Amino acid sequence: PGVQLPHDPTKKTLVILGSGWGATSLLNSLETADYNVIVISPKNYFLFTPLLPSVAVGTLSPRSILQPTRYVTRHKKRQVTVIEASATDVDPATKTVTFADTSEIQGLVSTTTIPYDYLVFAVGAEVQTFNIPGVRENACFMKELEDAEKMQRRFLDCLESAAFPGQSTEEIKRLLHMVVVGGGPTGVELSGELHDFLEQDLRSWYPELAENVRISLVEALPSVLPMFSKQLIDYTESTFKEAKIDILTKTMVKEIKDKSVVLQMPDKTIVEVPCGLVVWAAGNTLRKVTRDLMSKFPDVQTNRRGITVDECLRMEGSNGSIFAIGDCSATSYAPTAQVASQEGAYLARILSQIAKKDELDARLTALQTASEPEAKEEREQIQKRLAKLEKLRPFKYSHQGSLAYIGSDKAIADLPFFNGNFASGGIATYLFWRSVYLSTLFSVRNRTLVATDWLYVKLFGRDVSRE
Ligand code: FAD
Ligand code: NAD
Repeated sequence: PGVQLPHDPTKKTLVILGSGWGATSLLNSLETADYNVIVISPKNYFLFTPLLPSVAVGTLSPRSILQPTRYVTRHKKRQVTVIEASATDVDPATKTVTFADTSEIQGLVSTTTIPYDYLVFAVGAEVQTFNIPGVRENACFMKELEDAEKMQRRFLDCLESAAFPGQSTEEIKRLLHMVVVGGGPTGVELSGELHDFLEQDLRSWYPELAENVRISLVEALPSVLPMFSKQLIDYTESTFKEAKIDILTKTMVKEIKDKSVVLQMPDKTIVEVPCGLVVWAAGNTLRKVTRDLMSKFPDVQTNRRGITVDECLRMEGSNGSIFAIGDCSATSYAPTAQVASQEGAYLARILSQIAKKDELDARLTALQTASEPEAKEEREQIQKRLAKLEKLRPFKYSHQGSLAYIGSDKAIADLPFFNGNFASGGIATYLFWRSVYLSTLFSVRNRTLVATDWLYVKLFGRDVSRE
């Protein structure tokens, strides 16, 4: 009864957890005829994270940076099952995965367990709060689509409340003080986008408020964007200075209250700063399902940054049945979309090789007892082919450079050219940034939507209606 999972007993079952950068890149390249493929993710879409800060300020509409996962799978050679659910447990001993429907509406069945032969673990990471008081309750995150939508609502609410008749100047200043925590690329890009909104739209929509707006970017380390070259850090800092975005380095957020943020300043004094909005972009931590899986291999899975994998992205301890890619794994690479998508594409090739090998193994087992000369000859041939397939080529990351938008129609780029680094910042880099992101969007549909949104904002400005 009910919907059956596609099952061809001659094929192995491949379960993919996640529909983000790693999983989607894998699905794009995977030869689905090789396996019974099942994708499980609480989101039935892929989110193009690099443009999420643009959604938060209304430059792009949310739908423009989403791609339904079924949009990818429906074009595949063999049917792929997509299930909207969260994996809650993986049992490597029985090779099963348990998942639950965690959405608002549920049917009578909302949790179940299925077996896998191979599992691709690509669940990403979640926001790191360091258990700092008030972060979950009072700040917005910038990780999921809901985060960007929530930030946009709150941000516009701050503007409307500041515009309320009779508001004191002090309260207007508080409501219009936007604090971004974390000077990594997410915090920097978001500050830049916020500034653009204020410069390009606030001045015309709310001229009486414009002068009272303040953006502060708080970073615990001595500088923002540690992954970029010194020259580009300096360029970003001077662009922010011109844009009147205050960068507070060596400053640590200690608590976030309803109407203020508590900071530990470089001289260790504690200061409470009133503000209307706090956006928390202080990095990643592992999801519970990842920690739980790691705890099943206590001897080998001890890295607190994530799942330890071998050179072919197989989880240490799992005997080659679990692969981990993207932000949930601990490798020598940064947790970026670029790495996750290259890992996904690599895994598609490896899984195709493994499928061929498994097929030959099965054929060899079937021929084991046959004594005819043809069978003997076929066995020898299979063994020769198997010897070639045995060795998997290790994953090699090819860094294409780092790019970040810093607002004021400027972007920065560290590109690995001619065996050296080419650093560039400015308006040409911004146009390059736009064209790179446009071409990286997976589908023509999304490219069209994003390009149309950009044009719309150029012509009519951003929408300030609050949903
Ligand atoms: P994700 O893309 O996060 O995907 C994880 C998937 O797993 C999601 O579909 C999620 O719904 C699903 N999932 C979660 N829990 C479960 C569960 N229990 N069971 C099943 N599925 C689950 N990187 C760059 O290289 N360039 C950029 O410009 C860039 N910009 C960024 C901007 C922002 C605002 C953010 C937040 C990140 C940015 N990154 C960028 C980083 C990049 O997004 C991540 O490194 C990338 O998403 C990692 O890919 P992933 O597949 O590991 O995880
Ligand atoms: P991050 O980890 O790169 O930066 C978080 C920053 O927050 C750190 O610099 C940390 O020192 C600071 N921080 C932490 N706690 C703090 C506190 N209490 N007070 C003040 N500061 C605090 O996080 P991210 O920017 O979200 O990036 C995550 C990953 O995604 C990175 O690998 C990044 O390269 C990638 N990413 C890339 C791009 C891009 O290439 N354009 C954009 C966004 C994200």
